[in-house]
Amino acid sequence: MSSTSESDVDAVNPRAGTRPEVRPIEVAGVSVRFGAVRALSDVSFRVAPGDVHAIIGPNGAGKSTMFNVLSGVYQVSSGEVRYGDARLTSMRPHQIARLGIARAFQNIALSGTQTVAENLMLGRHALTKAGFLASGLRLPRATREGRRHGARVREIADFLELSDKLETPVGVLSYGDQKRVEVARALCTEPDVLLLDEPVAGMNAEETERMAAIVLEIRHALGITVVLVEHDMGMVMSIADRVTVLDFGRLIADGTPGEVQRNDDVIRAYLGSGDGELGNGELGNGLPGDGSSERAVSAGDGDDVESTEEPTP
Ligand code: ADP
Ligand code: MG
Repeated sequence: MSSTSESDVDAVNPRAGTRPEVRPIEVAGVSVRFGAVRALSDVSFRVAPGDVHAIIGPNGAGKSTMFNVLSGVYQVSSGEVRYGDARLTSMRPHQIARLGIARAFQNIALSGTQTVAENLMLGRHALTKAGFLASGLRLPRATREGRRHGARVREIADFLELSDKLETPVGVLSYGDQKRVEVARALCTEPDVLLLDEPVAGMNAEETERMAAIVLEIRHALGITVVLVEHDMGMVMSIADRVTVLDFGRLIADGTPGEVQRNDDVIRAYLGSGDGELGNGELGNGLPGDGSSERAVSAGDGDDVESTEEPTP
């Protein structure tokens, strides 16, 4: 923001600052079955470097399954996911993490008794060359590294508006604060790609707005890709560059927020699921009927996803 020409460039191309090492993600024909349940059926889409890319859909659509495929937690039944030349679908989660793909969980996975700073330092440990032994012995190199990591942890905490909470045990923080700590911890690994599973689930309106602003700031300031699995359509529509919509494990739309908002299949899926409005109030116009019977129609022609008990991966 030091000169007008720079900010002009930013205004035209918000991804001007994308890091060159950030690669595209290609999801190609991915299917995941749990016993008779088809959680994902032949799903293909591309995530461009530096995009905020949202994956949305009603409950049970397969969003979390896709998240777990991207992070290597679930194996695919067929298809593959590539990150540049790397085949993520044949890698373990820690190998994917080492490629610079970090995830923050839907259900907070923090140590509640430890402080925010301690939790964030855990995120730095993968980057700590000195290792635990040297740190334990307080060797000079370890203390130097410790100071460097401490400085970066404070920067990231500041970025996530957590500076005044660094010494607070995570367990006593509000839900919204804890979710931001979870994102901060993922950022502490200095990722090229950040995977977020329902970052605003359970948040109030103010916390949601704050998280949306932070996601945009992450993309803008760090130049990394953010893949966002989200139920909250309003949040997604205001910040995503591209939106992939799943319903019953199938991709039903993929495009800009404006495109998917106007897509009839998307409108039907969301109205039929009783999930209500599709964000920004833009979809309230011109919809056929109330759509309440349409979910039954689309459910009937799909696989009976609800009918099995105890599927196994
Ligand atoms: P979403 O996150 O969009 O709500 P999920 O990916 O959690 O959807 O679930 C998609 C479908 O896959 C659902 O029918 C769900 O019950 C099933 N499913 C997801 N994970 C598992 C699992 N580990 N074992 C068995 N079934 C699963
Ligand atoms: Mg989910």
